[in-house]
Amino acid sequence: MTQPTSIRQVVENGLCIGCGLCEALAPARWRMAYTPEGRLRPLALAAGDDADILAACPGAVAEALPEPAPQEDGIWGKYHGMTRAWAADPDIRFRAATGGILTALGAYLLSSGKARFVLHCASDPAAPMQSTWVMSETPQDVIHACGSRYGPSDTLAGLEAALARGEPFAVIAKPCDAGAIRQRAKSDPRIDALVVAVLVMVCGGASDLGKSRAVLDEFDVDERDLTLFRYRGYGNPGPTRIETRDGMAFEKTYLDMWADESGWRIQSRCKICPDAIGEAADLAAADIWPGGAPVGEDAGFNGVISRSARGQALLDAAVADGAVRQDKALTPRMFDDFQPHQVRKKQKLAARLRGLQKAGQPVFAHEGLRIDALDTRDIQEEQGTLDRANAGRFTETMPTEIE
Ligand SMILES: Cc1cc2nc3c(=O)[nH]c(=O)nc-3n(C[C@H](O)[C@H](O)[C@H](O)COP(=O)(O)OP(=O)(O)OC[C@H]3O[C@@H](n4cnc5c(N)ncnc54)[C@H](O)[C@@H]3O)c2cc1C
Ligand code: SF4
Ligand code: SF4
Repeated sequence: MTQPTSIRQVVENGLCIGCGLCEALAPARWRMAYTPEGRLRPLALAAGDDADILAACPGAVAEALPEPAPQEDGIWGKYHGMTRAWAADPDIRFRAATGGILTALGAYLLSSGKARFVLHCASDPAAPMQSTWVMSETPQDVIHACGSRYGPSDTLAGLEAALARGEPFAVIAKPCDAGAIRQRAKSDPRIDALVVAVLVMVCGGASDLGKSRAVLDEFDVDERDLTLFRYRGYGNPGPTRIETRDGMAFEKTYLDMWADESGWRIQSRCKICPDAIGEAADLAAADIWPGGAPVGEDAGFNGVISRSARGQALLDAAVADGAVRQDKALTPRMFDDFQPHQVRKKQKLAARLRGLQKAGQPVFAHEGLRIDALDTRDIQEEQGTLDRANAGRFTETMPTEIE
């Protein structure tokens, strides 16, 4: 496999997910900026050597946690436990995306003194449809930022600022962000010394902002008039809700929001994501709707996969101290039913990567993610990806100015 050898190659070959690491590691050379399509991508400010960024960039490398675990599954990888769980605090459970596990664990790490702050993302107060990285200092701050944000997020743009504080902290982010943190830890010893937990959501893909703009268009709302853009939560899954300065409110159900797959505008790195299930994280949280989609609202239940001994210990401590409730063990085959799209993606990935390579495009290196073992030699999938690549569907342009 040919890997990208520059940030430009990562972006131009559709391998960038806009994680923000470029800006964190080299703020004089890179600044995250929106492209006209509504993707966050690194904008070049100056020339320089990007070898340190490429060594951790999710567009160039992806790797599972190397440590062994007591359980291993062909699809779901290594794990210490799989359980059904939710936030014990009913307010967190209601407000959060699913059952509030990520928020409850983040808040618990702060209230128990295990972490001084949580690096994650939240709605940008100045532009509520967009997300911005934040360092939440109190449990209330973590709760304030709860909920899934289905647009671009560059949480890792805050990584250097977080490390520079020299205090223990947790990260809540996407699986690709977790991978970048682990890779970066190989050359930055502060990460293993200071990051007490990396918590992720199982991730079906990040839409570009065009998906959110389409919601505004539907209700004839100008982005500048927004005071709230909540993608889900306040129920499970809860509605997508927008509010405006003049007191208007509009809602769409989760099923309406995601009914038409052709309008999802999922970014290209997500279509070839080697680890959307959090194999580089300490713990991953998911939805557990049978068949993969909700049939209505429920009280909020997360499927939780503890990936590391540290993740399992955190979950056990949060249960013991009353911050989290769990009621039954889950199995990999149950997760197959909850997440059929993740199973398909894992099984089709090798063919998609071959298609890209046949089109002459570089792809990321991968390790420990069972991509070759799961290869179904799907010729149609390979040809489809080759055709899409030849049609320019994996080709992007670097941003040239701040949108
Ligand atoms: C882009 C995206 C795709 C998803 N796809 C799937 C899927 O395929 N299958 C599935 O089971 N679940 C998926 N989810 C996850 C699901 O919606 C819940 O986030 C997950 O179950 C955790 O629920 P929770 O109640 O514990 O989260 P909460 O307690 O509400 O906490 C969510 C946390 O995630 C952080 N966060 C939210 N959005 C982002 C983002 N875009 N980037 C980085 N951090 C973010 C917030 O800062 C917050 O700390 C997806 C979520 C996102 C954001
Ligand atoms: S994926 Fe992250 S590190 Fe890689 S080019 Fe994009 S913003 Fe930079
Ligand atoms: S699908 Fe993969 S690349 Fe896309 S946002 Fe999710 S974890 Fe990142």
